[in-house]
Amino acid sequence: MAYRTLNPATETVEANFETLSDPALMNALDVAAAAYRNVWSRSAVSTRSAVMAKVAELMRSEIEHLAALAVRDMGKLFTHAIGELQLAAAILDYYAQEGERLLAPKPVEGYEGATVHTLPLGVILAVEPWNFPYYQIARVAGPQLMAGNVLLVKHASNVPQCAAAIEDLFRRAGAPAGIYTNLFASTDQVARLIDDDQVRGVTLTGSEGAGASVAERAARKLKKSVLELGGSDPMIVLEDAPVDATIANAVAGRMNNTGQSCVATKRMIVVGRARGQLFLDAMIAALGALQPGDPMDPATQLGPVSSEKALADLLSQIDRAKAAGAQVVLGGRRIDRPGFYLEPTILTEVDEDNPIYSEELFGPVLAFHIVDTEEEALKIANAVRFGLGSAIFTADLAHAAELALQIESGMTFVNHPTWSAPQLPFGGIKASGYGRELGELGIGEFVNRKLVAVSPAGSPPFGAERAG
Ligand code: NAP
Repeated sequence: MAYRTLNPATETVEANFETLSDPALMNALDVAAAAYRNVWSRSAVSTRSAVMAKVAELMRSEIEHLAALAVRDMGKLFTHAIGELQLAAAILDYYAQEGERLLAPKPVEGYEGATVHTLPLGVILAVEPWNFPYYQIARVAGPQLMAGNVLLVKHASNVPQCAAAIEDLFRRAGAPAGIYTNLFASTDQVARLIDDDQVRGVTLTGSEGAGASVAERAARKLKKSVLELGGSDPMIVLEDAPVDATIANAVAGRMNNTGQSCVATKRMIVVGRARGQLFLDAMIAALGALQPGDPMDPATQLGPVSSEKALADLLSQIDRAKAAGAQVVLGGRRIDRPGFYLEPTILTEVDEDNPIYSEELFGPVLAFHIVDTEEEALKIANAVRFGLGSAIFTADLAHAAELALQIESGMTFVNHPTWSAPQLPFGGIKASGYGRELGELGIGEFVNRKLVAVSPAGSPPFGAERAG
């Protein structure tokens, strides 16, 4: 794919970027590998923390400029971009502050003299998506650079200005050359990097197809991969959930980032016929009232989706859903104005044999289910191939805690849509991928948990006290 800014609100091409030449690609890899060997793997944790904190500081001080780049690259609402950058900065600060503790050697209980150290692996390749162009990078750069790894980043081809800006932030924050390298690379070049012995691991956030391709390639070379893929998060609304707060959460959960979030509320499942209709009417009113406009205008409530293809794919999904018996009770059409705008859409009667039943709706389209029992809700929640996030809304917190364990997902939130915070491990199961980002688990994905076991000089071999 060509790297370019095609503004989704105006449909105009604003900037083009050259794909890297092969020699430049291999040179970037060599520089990164040398920087790992000679500089970063030997650096003090406090040195890494200082760079991370400085990037966070720069992000905050230049937040409006950086947010505007995301608006132009992928059409995000300016207000949402500000929120994303605040979260990205908070993630970098978290690892800057907690890195020392998270990386500290841990004595092995019950075996005297044994310690597990957390050491870096080397050059890690990160392939990242466009939907949260700053946050996705912070999720990888925070833990991996703090652990002492260095990063080669292939960002999505439709967010080149954000990609270049992030690399520039690291450079200005004092990161030595080769620690964080942005690559305007092709898919073939990504494959070549994975094959190279100097790359020690690969992480991809994106679609199932891209994930499978990258992970298969990495596995052939016996390299570890982490995959953060798609989702079709259910939101189960039980009979005692308060109406107004639940609606507010459902609207925010579905519409954040114009619905283009892996953990968006893509399926709402309400228990109880009468309440189901009440919630449906409220969602139709709330989503139907959102006003489209210029994404830079803080008053705008509905932005464009990221590309013409994204819009066409969503319209095709709506058509296929209708053809298989679903009802379009709100929206369903392109908005008649420049830009890739889609009406907020609600689909009902999406039965088990409807292809949309188990597909991801990556935009402002909600599948709405009304059921009689909690068991039916759970069945629908677990019926899809994905298992990323999920949510339960109820006043009975003890019951919710039990029900949460029955949902097949990597994360369940109670009385809140799935979201992200620096401390919370993020990731999924099933076709949503494997591995975790953020929190303590995130810094443990690409490290050597190295055991060092020290016995006193003159110890006998295989002493009885240490048999086994
Ligand atoms: P995508 O097409 O897979 O793109 C993601 C990244 O992978 C881009 O950098 C893309 O590069 C690259 N890529 C695509 N095919 C590749 C291949 N064969 N080999 C190597 N790299 C490849 O994903 P998308 O459709 O733009 O993004 C939306 C998907 O990502 C949704 O399913 C969403 O749920 C998921 N997502 C998951 C998470 C999570 O944390 N679980 C977070 C955000 C998004 P180009 O841009 O150059 O094609």
